[in-house]
Amino acid sequence: MFNLVIFGGPGSGKGTQSEKLIDRYGLTHISTGQVLRDEIKAGTELGKIAATYIDHGQLIPDQLMVRILADEIDRLKGDSAGFIFDGFPRTINQAERLTEMLAERGTKVDAVVGLEVPDEELTARLIERGKVSGRADDNAETIGRRLEVYHDTTSPLRDHYIDKGLYHAIPGLGTIDEIFETIKSEIESCPNPPIPNA
Ligand code: AMP
Repeated sequence: MFNLVIFGGPGSGKGTQSEKLIDRYGLTHISTGQVLRDEIKAGTELGKIAATYIDHGQLIPDQLMVRILADEIDRLKGDSAGFIFDGFPRTINQAERLTEMLAERGTKVDAVVGLEVPDEELTARLIERGKVSGRADDNAETIGRRLEVYHDTTSPLRDHYIDKGLYHAIPGLGTIDEIFETIKSEIESCPNPPIPNA
């Protein structure tokens, strides 16, 4: 298995680059934000709880989030070539729990791809996305809050993964294809890289 964390601020291109990674390597995508949005859409109890946080740009509590992720891993693992974790971890505690969760299942995080994009660009992209996404959290006020949460709580993960020797910094400005080329060469220089589709 090759497990990848795709990391970066809101609007940094995690979802877009994940699609290209899935195409090339056949990895299984887990977007925790999407899992939560699906629950909200289905009107479940979990969805109702999640909406109270998401609509305010706040993080869902770690304990709940870790449980959701473990369920997703177990639902999808089958004979997966590996996972792309998109939007998880978002706290140091989540990162530690992810390490444990994967170790319990005989695997690990192999690489963290960090899409590095300045705040002004993130804000501009999210405002644009808000015009078509229909996402309750793509509005000016919530975007500001999400960026604050990202800087206060999530960005320390960069150092956490640098210390572990797993972090690959990717300049997140440029065309989608240019950024993907950089990601590809970083991933394919890892030990035991995933095998590209024919
Ligand atoms: P995303 O689609 O990754 O931008 O996530 C949208 C929202 O879902 C976030 O702003 C959080 O409210 C919530 N969320 C997604 N993933 C996590 C996570 N790992 N921990 C806590 N909250 C999360």
